[in-house]
Amino acid sequence: MGETFDLRGKRVFVAGHRGMVGSAIVRRLAAEDCEILTATRAELDLLDQAGVRRWMADRRPDAVVMAAAKVGGILANDRFPADFLYDNVVVQTNLIEGAFRAEVGKFLFLGSSCIYPKFAPQPISEDALLTGALEPTNEWYAIAKIAGLKLCQAYRRQYGVDYISAMPTNLYGPGDNFHLESSHVVPALMRKAHEAKLAGRKTLTVWGTGTPMREFLYVDDAADALICLLKTYSSDSHVNVGSGQDITIAELARTVASIVGGDVEIVFDTTKPDGTPRKLLDVTRLFATGWRPRYSLRKGLEQTNEWFLRHVEKGDVRLGAA
Ligand code: GDP
Repeated sequence: MGETFDLRGKRVFVAGHRGMVGSAIVRRLAAEDCEILTATRAELDLLDQAGVRRWMADRRPDAVVMAAAKVGGILANDRFPADFLYDNVVVQTNLIEGAFRAEVGKFLFLGSSCIYPKFAPQPISEDALLTGALEPTNEWYAIAKIAGLKLCQAYRRQYGVDYISAMPTNLYGPGDNFHLESSHVVPALMRKAHEAKLAGRKTLTVWGTGTPMREFLYVDDAADALICLLKTYSSDSHVNVGSGQDITIAELARTVASIVGGDVEIVFDTTKPDGTPRKLLDVTRLFATGWRPRYSLRKGLEQTNEWFLRHVEKGDVRLGAA
């Protein structure tokens, strides 16, 4: 597929550059001949509409990649519905409208695979959007993200701007959130496996039944796919970003345990929710650009584990052995 947006000499604003995805995008953009713009929370509060408008008018980016979001795992979504809906709607609306006012020509909005109906046919194609009820545990976040992709579509239709949306599958990797209460499954299991090893415990507790299936994509692969879309994709419809392969949570737990080491038995806490039974994206549209992931799940998990251990050593994460 040919390039529709040449990054050379462009000013690209990465909103949310401190997060797992944003920092991977910054790493990936370093290989392009473009200027990367970022703003710390102290410099720019994305919840403040006037501040975002001012910032955009002053800095005049040529493109915006929106990786800023309030994210969290299954329990965090369930506990903080107002934050997940309000913060995400306001931040994305400020960024999209602020970009439009400042005549930013290209916008890449990032959503999530949870925008799709709970019982969407698998693998989930982009066309499954709004064909059924959402998974209730994360519908707050999902509704915000659906509004974001629709807003990009609306600006595109009404004003002819090149605003596109990508919906990544479950991402993991360096920079992930390793807090057990709010994290997604990969960092949670990795941390729990290390804590079990440290305590000499023989069990690793996995939430739910272990039977749900999830697709995972290493964050540097995701960043590479997103920059590929930024350069080559220009269309009304959003694009799924995934690896095209999924595994059960039980299998994921076994893989994580084997990487961390320590001889643990996996036990299931069925008082915790399973969430959606399966969530595999149809990646035909993305793969049609020629893009493919580079990291196997095992390789990506090994890299994540190395990053995690370095941060434990530095004292950024304190492992509880109790
Ligand atoms: P989801 O993909 O939106 O459901 O988000 P999560 O990554 O939080 O959860 C994925 C699956 O992993 C769900 O079925 C969870 O019940 C399961 N899971 C198993 N153990 C854990 C854990 O320790 N933390 C989290 N967040 N999920 C877990």
